[in-house]
Amino acid sequence: KANRRFHEDDSVIDIDGVKVGGSHFMVCAGPCSVENEEDTVELAKALKDAGANTLRGGAFKPRTSPYSFQGLGIEGLRILNTAKQETGLPIVSELMGTEHIDDFVEMVDVIQVGARNMSNFDLLKALGQTKKPVLLKRGMSATIQEWLMSAEYIMAGGNDNVIFCERGIRTFETATRNTLDLQAVPVIQKESHLPIVIDPSHAAGTRYVIPSMAKAATVSGANGLQIEVHQDPENAWSDGQQCLTPAEFKDLMQHINILAEME
Ligand code: PEP
Ligand code: MN
Repeated sequence: KANRRFHEDDSVIDIDGVKVGGSHFMVCAGPCSVENEEDTVELAKALKDAGANTLRGGAFKPRTSPYSFQGLGIEGLRILNTAKQETGLPIVSELMGTEHIDDFVEMVDVIQVGARNMSNFDLLKALGQTKKPVLLKRGMSATIQEWLMSAEYIMAGGNDNVIFCERGIRTFETATRNTLDLQAVPVIQKESHLPIVIDPSHAAGTRYVIPSMAKAATVSGANGLQIEVHQDPENAWSDGQQCLTPAEFKDLMQHINILAEME
């Protein structure tokens, strides 16, 4: 069902009024983890002013260490909803297991499947039973073919609202956290009618690499971006080293708006 053979035109996915796919460009920004209401609302306002059209924030976090901050849980989703009320920005948040699926259907606009869960087929099947847009991140060691099949798992159940998200893959290179595979953009767009967005933050793992990769992703024809932003990256509870400040994000967006217009 994800194959272009069955759907010649680009699919356009509706995220509570914000469209992504075809000529519609998604700019999803926000903190890695939601930390508190005041900062989240303030950041959401700054992101909206800068040109973001969706807000991301992790409430359930897949951390490498069990001793690292694991997210605020349902309270994080509640905070995101307050930010949505204040700004109108639809929200994107990661669901790690089927246990909280009903809460996510009720409280978020896009359910993110993280890289570590791309092959969690029970989770994908459960999401197929909903109509919620799903942002399907590429597994860090997944081939494009495997990634397409994960989308198929969701669509097989009747949910056609899938957005691919390339976030870097593991290679021998250690100068960056992962290696951004921008070739995935033309390959996915040839194989599939579904939109693909690029997350340069988790690919780079380090702040200074992000603006050039975000611009390159936009010119590559990707259907959007997902970027981590934090008011005080040094003190962020997760992924601070790869978060842009709101000022850096605003500066970047001035370039992205021009480049996305040209595409
Ligand atoms: C995230 O978006 O914060 C995240 C954990 O991403 P990924 O699954 O791509 O590592
Ligand atoms: Mn993160």
